[in-house]
Amino acid sequence: MNATEDPERKLAAPVHAPYVKVLDLEQTLSDLTAMVDQLQSERDDLEIALTTAIEHGDAIESQLATANVQLQKEVLERRNVEKQLRLLVATITEKSRDLELVLQTITEHADQIDMEWLKRYIESESAARHDSLTGLANRRMLDEAIASEWARGRRESRPVAMLMCDVDHFKEYNDLHGHRAGDECLRRIADVLGGALHRKGDLAARYGGEEFIVLLPNTDREGARAIAANIQRALAHEAIEHGNSPLGAHITLSIGVSAMVPENGDEGPLFAEVDRLLYRAKQQGRNRIVA
Ligand code: GH3
Ligand code: MG
Ligand code: MG
Repeated sequence: MNATEDPERKLAAPVHAPYVKVLDLEQTLSDLTAMVDQLQSERDDLEIALTTAIEHGDAIESQLATANVQLQKEVLERRNVEKQLRLLVATITEKSRDLELVLQTITEHADQIDMEWLKRYIESESAARHDSLTGLANRRMLDEAIASEWARGRRESRPVAMLMCDVDHFKEYNDLHGHRAGDECLRRIADVLGGALHRKGDLAARYGGEEFIVLLPNTDREGARAIAANIQRALAHEAIEHGNSPLGAHITLSIGVSAMVPENGDEGPLFAEVDRLLYRAKQQGRNRIVA
């Protein structure tokens, strides 16, 4: 039911209706004005917000653009670094493969490499201690052997014997047959000397030119004289033609023999003694042993 149909309102309406309507309109107008103000205020706020957003948007956009440029730069740098790293890894991989190969080769041939090194070491050590012509011990090896045997003889109070052998009339042999034949003759004499020694520690050495020394540790004068006699016999058996010796057809040796129990001091007196006895053998006519 609406107001026009209400019987009570139909009675009251004729007295108050215009005032009520004006009042309502004023109220409505006032409400509308308030609403417009409100809307105006909200619109201002929105405009401020929009302006701020636009202004900030520009800043944000600019920041984003800067960040984007920075990011692109970083991406580029990272790609470069990645590329370099890949290259590095490839190089290392290749190098490590090479190394592995080297390592494998070394491992596989370690024995041979060691043996090769050992062989060369032994060869050079041997060359440094042996006479290249005859293969006998050289002066250096002889000196070392005498020093150690002399010290041992002193400790154990045992004699050390020595033979000094010199080829008789070797100059004449050289003159007749030539230097090369002389060398070959020295080699054969050296073989005879070496062949006459059987005990461990006995040592034959080329002392120089056509002179040889035989070192006999733990041997007395008679034992040494026996060895000297063996050497002369073996040389006679070798029968190296001399061709120009007043002593006979073959190469002969003069030998000085001495033995000493080492006391204080070095082996000098033993050397001096065999040298003196060899000289006496030469004096007495050569091809002999003087002890
Ligand atoms: P002696 O009976 O007095 O010992 O007379 P010798 O002729 O043997 O002694 P001398 O010292 O007069 O001569 C030694 C010779 O030995 C002279 C030298 O040319 C020779 N000689 C020394 N060393 C070598 C060498 O390595 N090879 C050759 N072929 N001859 C050498
Ligand atoms: Mg000589
Ligand atoms: Mg001689």
